[in-house]
Formats: sequence, structure tokens, C-alpha cells
Amino acid sequence: MEILLAKDMGFCWGVRRAIDIMEKAAAEKGKVTSLGPIVHNPQVVRDLKGKGVRITSGPLDGASGPVAITAHGVGPQMLEEARSRSSEVVDTTCPIVTRSQRWARKMADAGFTVVVFGDPDHPEVKGVLAWAGRNALALADAARIPDALPTRLAIISQTTQSPERFALFVSQLMQQRLGKISELRLINTLCHVTSSQQGAARDLAREVDVILVVGGRNSANTRHLLEVCREEGSTAYHIESADELRGEWLQGLQRVGVTAGTSTPDSAVETVVRRIQEIAQELAGAASAN
Ligand code: SF4
Repeated sequence: MEILLAKDMGFCWGVRRAIDIMEKAAAEKGKVTSLGPIVHNPQVVRDLKGKGVRITSGPLDGASGPVAITAHGVGPQMLEEARSRSSEVVDTTCPIVTRSQRWARKMADAGFTVVVFGDPDHPEVKGVLAWAGRNALALADAARIPDALPTRLAIISQTTQSPERFALFVSQLMQQRLGKISELRLINTLCHVTSSQQGAARDLAREVDVILVVGGRNSANTRHLLEVCREEGSTAYHIESADELRGEWLQGLQRVGVTAGTSTPDSAVETVVRRIQEIAQELAGAASAN
């Protein structure tokens, strides 16, 4: 069985930067309270906990010491609250997300209704919406476009969406609403790292019998990798760790592909590759015994 890795996958510079900043702050101050998981990967979160990074998902309930904003960023109200209730704010927001937030604010100030293409429940999208004024809305697909939509629209995307899906959303919105739109601004806020990894996953998906996508269950970019692999017609599985890998998925296959989300550490990918090798040996042993 041959194991092929995607040409571009795993930790991005935005996640590495956020982890470095968080680790440095925890080492200097003793502990840091992160507003939510720093990235959507349980191994990374566990590792950081061991280094003094406490995570809160609710309000700043008596946090002492520095408070950290995660790579996904937050809205202005949350930023203000963190500043007023803690001794120091450690901001690890990815610069690509910050750019998206700035565009959201700029477009709202210019009188546009901001439409964010993405998952309304994702922390990055919630944060961007909070910068985009009261009328902004997030839409996961064109089927959810409300009937009453203002006529001046600015469209931006969650950074981790695929370029193909963003383009489809925009074209569907145009088809549905062209007669009612007086002005449309389209701002490309996609992350080039995730776009590149999605392209590499598509290429790999065409070459292999099955593709394993390694990453946190709640990781948006990992889920998008899975979607692009399936869009290529491939059999693809999303696993968080090597323990979830099942022998029957690999039975009788020649080529297995592996890719990983931007919040997946190299160690998780290495463990999955070792487990595939073990399973391949078990399957070969069972075949020769029969
Ligand atoms: S995936 Fe892109 S936007 Fe997200 S943290 Fe990494 S570099 Fe930043």
C-alpha cells in the first residue's frame, strides 16, 4: 500500500504565530486565559494547557493575569471587555482575519450592508460580523439569502472557505438579486494558505483510492478540505487522531492519501501515517494467512 501526502498541508503560519505568542506570554506571566480554544485542535489545546494556558468559553469570569484573543479574532465589544477586565490583552488574531475585520468595518462605515459568506456559528465569522455593524449577516449558502436585503451590499468570505464555493455563492446571489442591487462590492478575504491546501487536497484526491483528512472535529478549514476531496468524487474520511482510523476503510486499496488542516500538528499526521503502515501490514498478514 502506497501512502501519499498532500503537497501542502498542516500547520499554517497564522496558527504557528498564535501558538508562539501564547506560549511566550504563558512562560513570561505564569498563566494566560484564552478566550476559547486557541485553534480547533484538541492536541494543540492540551499541549498549551500543560504550559499554563487556561481556556474560558464564557464571559471573563474573574480571570486574573493576561487574557488572550485567539487566532480567530473577536469583535470590538469583546476586545473592549477583555481590555477593561484584565491586566493585559495578548492578541494572537491572524493578520489575515484582521484584514477581513478591517474590510467589514470599512464597508459598514461606507454605508454597505456586509454579507459574510461562511458559517454563522464559527468564532471568526462572529467576530467579523461584530465589526460589520448592526445590519451585517452571515450566510452559509445562497439558499438562505433573505427576501428583504438592502440594495448596497459588500460581500466578504470566511477566510477558510474554498474559492470555488465563494465564487458559486456570489454568482447565485447575483442571479437571484441583480435587479434589486444598486451597488455591489466584492472583497476577496480568502486565506491563500487554505486555498493552496485545498488545491493540493483536490490534486491528491484524484490520485488515490481513499483520502484521510486529519484535523479537529470543529476545525472549519479541515471540514472544508473534506468537502473539496468529496467534490472530486473521492472517498474521504475526517479523523481527529490515528485511533479513529478503521482497517476496513483501507482493505484492498493500493493508494492512500493523507492531508491535514491548518491547525493540525505534524505529530498528528506522523501518527496517522504510522497507523496506516501498521494496518497495511496487518491486512497483508491476514491475506497471506488465508
Ligand atoms: S488558515 Fe489562514 S487565516 Fe487561518 S490562521 Fe492560518 S493563515 Fe490565518
